[in-house]
Amino acid sequence: MTDAADRERKRSPHRCECGSAFDVCYFDDRRDPDRDREAVTVQVSCPSCGRSKTLCVPEGADRTVVVEASALAADDFEEGVAG
Ligand SMILES: [Zn+2]
Repeated sequence: MTDAADRERKRSPHRCECGSAFDVCYFDDRRDPDRDREAVTVQVSCPSCGRSKTLCVPEGADRTVVVEASALAADDFEEGVAG
């Protein structure tokens, strides 16, 4: 049995060189407080152009990293010209 409900989901916004904004989500999987400061590097891919990006997350969280395209991407901005 996994106790997934007990884990806190983190969300970290990033921006790719191509201009796309995306969120890097992960679960903080730390169990040992003594290792609280450990950090590891992970590679994620931009959901838009696929370019890889390196970032740091707490140790253990690197296995749970998920990339989500940000809803705040400005590319599809529509200007309403009314009146
Ligand atoms: Zn990109």
